[in-house]
Amino acid sequence: MNKSLRKAVIAGNWKMNKTPAETTALINEIKPLVADADCDVVCCVPYVDLFAALEAAKGSNIKIGAENCHWAKSGAFTGEVSAEMLKACGVDIVITGHSERRTYFGDTDVTVHDRTRAALDNGMTVILCVGEYLEQREQNITMEVVSSQVKIALAGVSKEELDRIIIAYEPVWAIGTGKTATADQAEEVCKAIRELIAELYDKEAADKFVVQYGGSMNAKNADELLGKEDVDGGLIGGASLKAPDFAAIVKAASK
Ligand code: PEP
Repeated sequence: MNKSLRKAVIAGNWKMNKTPAETTALINEIKPLVADADCDVVCCVPYVDLFAALEAAKGSNIKIGAENCHWAKSGAFTGEVSAEMLKACGVDIVITGHSERRTYFGDTDVTVHDRTRAALDNGMTVILCVGEYLEQREQNITMEVVSSQVKIALAGVSKEELDRIIIAYEPVWAIGTGKTATADQAEEVCKAIRELIAELYDKEAADKFVVQYGGSMNAKNADELLGKEDVDGGLIGGASLKAPDFAAIVKAASK
């Protein structure tokens, strides 16, 4: 499998952080630091910050994404935002299946599939998050868990649509904990995800498919993680809120 066939994607997941004014300031700070990046740069921000982020990112190489979307077009879903609404706001990228949505807000493999489907149907690119809990890793069922998450989320997704899917492998025990998977652990699962894509689609699709690692990636460990053959970028939480740290990760992905 050939890494040179893929362009790395570094995406920040801001979670529930930053007001619109703080968003403008942070995007303005990140912009010059990543201007010559040789990878795709994305900032996924809270819904209320989308307009500020889109405005601040105008004319730069930073793409703006959302952190979730609902599967229905519209309707009685208080507090939710549809993929169609995001698209109408000029947002082309969305995260689905983040472990915090699965853990705290009842997202299941089936609702993650439905959210992913809605985003694809609205022409968006999806960063689909999968990953195991610590107990599952300790029970040696990491790949069973991850492969069933991937298979359910991608059910019915065509090979053409796969071009608009990125999978972020995020071991839940490494998210926001400061505990990073070793580069070998990250590589092992990212490689297995690529092999699963080859099995579900074909080798051509798998070779160009982007698999990110996420889980306490930072300016210090990015080089080693991103140096792995099957790690094509990162989904970054905490470190994406500090412009110099985020830029350092973008730089590591640009080598
Ligand atoms: C995330 O939110 O997807 C994430 C990986 O967070 P952190 O980098 O803070 O572990």
